[in-house]
Amino acid sequence: PPVSTAIIGAGIAGLACGQALRAAGLPVHLFDKGRGPGGRMSSRRLPGAVVDLGAQFFSVRDPAFRRRVTAWREAGHVASWPETLWQVTETGWRSHRDNVERFIGTPRMSAVTRQLAEGLEVATGTRIARLASHDGQWWLLDQHDARHGPFTRVVIAVPTPQAAALLAGHEAALAEACEAVIQRPCWTAWARFDAPLPSLPGVDDDWQAVRLDPGQERPPADDPLRFVSRNDHKPGRHGQGESLSLLARLEWSEAHLALDAEAAARALLDAFRERLPRGVTLPEPTDLGAHLWRYAQPDVFAAGEAVNLDYRRASAGLALCGDGWRGPRVEDAWLSGHHLGEALAADTP
Ligand code: FAD
Repeated sequence: PPVSTAIIGAGIAGLACGQALRAAGLPVHLFDKGRGPGGRMSSRRLPGAVVDLGAQFFSVRDPAFRRRVTAWREAGHVASWPETLWQVTETGWRSHRDNVERFIGTPRMSAVTRQLAEGLEVATGTRIARLASHDGQWWLLDQHDARHGPFTRVVIAVPTPQAAALLAGHEAALAEACEAVIQRPCWTAWARFDAPLPSLPGVDDDWQAVRLDPGQERPPADDPLRFVSRNDHKPGRHGQGESLSLLARLEWSEAHLALDAEAAARALLDAFRERLPRGVTLPEPTDLGAHLWRYAQPDVFAAGEAVNLDYRRASAGLALCGDGWRGPRVEDAWLSGHHLGEALAADTP
């Protein structure tokens, strides 16, 4: 029978791996527990607005990723954004220029992964609970104990702590390698407004995104907010109602894992109010909520150096990819999956 590959996780890493295998003409089946593909590049539909809850933009360094992003851009799936980035320091709001080009999916971040999923078979709403091997073949068991397979190979493209759970009992060394990668949590809130946002003195009326430096008088774990973007000021979303995505500091998120979502959303919005220029008041939101990303971004430098292994392979047809093996960015996740897919394709008899 032909070599068949199962990929657990249809975030950008799993999808990039799947596309590289498909390009080599190999059968591939993806499984994701989410309602759709996308993982940490997902967006949420609210009445009258779409908000990005994970990655807010991504940058490009690697030539292979640049070629991919250029093709997406020409096809209208990504655009440059933000045009200007603002920064709030102790002394107030100022325009922040660093000459880094950043990109976003259009008309929402999830357009990138939706595009990557095209032509791939993705079973959504399917959480793989465990793996079983039999006669050199792999079976996947889902949350309902239904079996999927058999497959010659299994690629695990989920955050490392979740990968470790799937590997337990199969590949102790790989499970241990997963546990060594720290994935830090992040609260992300959204706030939707019926009224327009007030003008900010000294700031363009169409400001798009702002980075908030930690206040000097308190530790980062006590300072909730690190980044705010305006969803209706993103390409392809003009004319929607005003809405904000509010990203928490990782230190604050770690210290507030047990908050309920409403309290987290309230804390992030209050922190934004505090950092507005004096005299400016924000209208009350008509919709306010928050999502906790338990494994938001890997701390690949935790051990003092980058893990930078790109992806991991074991004998017996198991392999792993995802941002945890390379770095904390969309680009790292794509490269990890793409390189693994190419290596597996090259190894196929
Ligand atoms: P994921 O996107 O997490 O994909 C893993 C998939 O596996 C998910 O879809 C999940 O549903 C699925 N899954 C997990 N377990 C199972 C299971 N047992 N069975 C089936 N499916 C399963 N990057 C940037 O470049 N720039 C940024 O500005 C930026 N900001 C960020 C802000 C936030 C709040 C977050 C959360 C992330 C941010 N990132 C940013 C990081 C970036 O989003 C990630 O590095 C990248 O999306 C990771 O892709 P991935 O495919 O490795 O993992």
